[in-house]
Amino acid sequence: NTLNKRARDTVAQFLDAYGMDPDAPSTNWVAGQLVQGTGESITLLDPSTGLPLLQYQDAGHHMVDKAVKAAVEAQKAWIAISASERGRRLQDAARGLEGHEESLARLESLIAGKPVRDCRGEVGKVREMFEYYAGWCDKQHGEVIDVPTSHLNYVQRIPYGVVGQITPWNAPMFTCGWQLAPALAAGNAAVLKPSELTPLTSAILAMLLEQGGRLPRGLIGIVNGLGHTTGKTLTSHPDIAKLVFVGSPETGRRIAEAGAQRLVPSVLELGGKSANIIFEDAAINDAVSGAQAAIFAAAGQSCVAGSRLLLQESLMTEFPERLARAAETIAVGLPDDEATRMGPLQNAAQLSRVHQLIDEAVAQGATLLTGGKPPTHLPAEAADGYFLAPTILTDVTPDMAIANEEVFGPVLVIMPFQDEEDAVALANGTRFGLAGAVWSRDTGKAMRVAHQLRVGTVWINSYKTISVMSPFGGFGDSGYGRSSGPDGLHEYSVPRSVWVETAPKATAAMGYGDGQ
Ligand code: NAD
Repeated sequence: NTLNKRARDTVAQFLDAYGMDPDAPSTNWVAGQLVQGTGESITLLDPSTGLPLLQYQDAGHHMVDKAVKAAVEAQKAWIAISASERGRRLQDAARGLEGHEESLARLESLIAGKPVRDCRGEVGKVREMFEYYAGWCDKQHGEVIDVPTSHLNYVQRIPYGVVGQITPWNAPMFTCGWQLAPALAAGNAAVLKPSELTPLTSAILAMLLEQGGRLPRGLIGIVNGLGHTTGKTLTSHPDIAKLVFVGSPETGRRIAEAGAQRLVPSVLELGGKSANIIFEDAAINDAVSGAQAAIFAAAGQSCVAGSRLLLQESLMTEFPERLARAAETIAVGLPDDEATRMGPLQNAAQLSRVHQLIDEAVAQGATLLTGGKPPTHLPAEAADGYFLAPTILTDVTPDMAIANEEVFGPVLVIMPFQDEEDAVALANGTRFGLAGAVWSRDTGKAMRVAHQLRVGTVWINSYKTISVMSPFGGFGDSGYGRSSGPDGLHEYSVPRSVWVETAPKATAAMGYGDGQ
């Protein structure tokens, strides 16, 4: 299979460029070194052909412990450096990625199955996140509180120490930079476990960031392996003071439970079932392309995917057909092809889950408007790849699994609504609460509806715009806590209240004392 050979060659070239042995790659960045795991062997399959791409060893218990111990020491050194110097070093860390963007994007594209142009965007975001949070290092001031006693009371923000982070496969570089940058800016060290399905880019990113920024050795640790081995060891490690998890609600619950055992707090960035609400007075052309981008970008493997399209009733006659015709023109293809806008799904389990949900919906009466099978124009060698054409279903009712479960694939369900009230009830009728959008030329109405959605992010006449400056997070099964912006930074530190006696005679009180 020449496609698979091409992919294996690209991976081998990448590993060689970073001094790794393609037969036994050192997928962990621990105590300032790329090191091989010691646990069981893990095989990565090529999403475009279903054939083997790479084998590596699970990091294992000992490696996690080593990474956390190194991080404990590195954090002490990090916090001893002045805040403004830490800011300069994080800027330098961002510059450390210069010249490596293309090779990282190409590798990620093959392993994650994402179009190479999307992966370039991901590396760019990592840089942006480090630059943004570098600027925060010397601007995290405490405050003075005007307490009604003879005391000066001031509040400092102090880092947790070492944070444990766990990330998913759908946006490996993005999620890695997204959580590392604020953690370090707030004065912590971080040990991060990427998804076992996308192990390589995070380790190389960590190496480039740590070396580029002259960060203390071990300030960033990357340990690659399975959830129930390396992941579990990390979340239960006694020196981890906070957990940050990006992934599915099922695993999120396990992470929160592991934290609860040691009373360690967590931030959970989980899945979604976002509603894209289109009123009949919307700019229809914009709404069609918005609806298309909302669900088919990243082949629907995006936490904010607009997977439920809610159309005002009068739009039901033409809009679904227009959208279906537009979806059929999306360039589905090999991830390393510059023309590709949608690649395969990342893994076989994901593809079979998506098919199962589609089949079940059709059996319950849903109509397949387009898709439901692989596109026909792909090369024969990609026949066993995890491809699925953009898929749209109508005649879907809110009680069907496909209208409630996160599909995490290029599958859109369309449901009608009558008026504002109906739209809000349908949109909020899910246990998720990550994102949503409202399309209307009536700004007042759009804002009214937007303000009633129980979601962490809502767009008006737009979809998917995000910024490292603006808070992001969910309600319900979409998790809790926030990432990005100042809120994301504050998740990585805690306040300490300091009281200083200012009276000539100390007033240390028994009980609550007078005048307090
Ligand atoms: P997942 O929950 O299966 O895995 C996520 C990570 O958790 C992986 O690194 C995995 O190895 C690890 N893990 C699994 N079991 C573990 C355990 N017992 N202990 C510790 N770690 C464990 O999720 P996924 O399939 O990799 O990613 C897809 C999910 O991520 C979707 O639900 C998607 O919506 C969500 N996601 C959310 C956001 C967000 O910001 N809200 C962003 C991207 C993805």
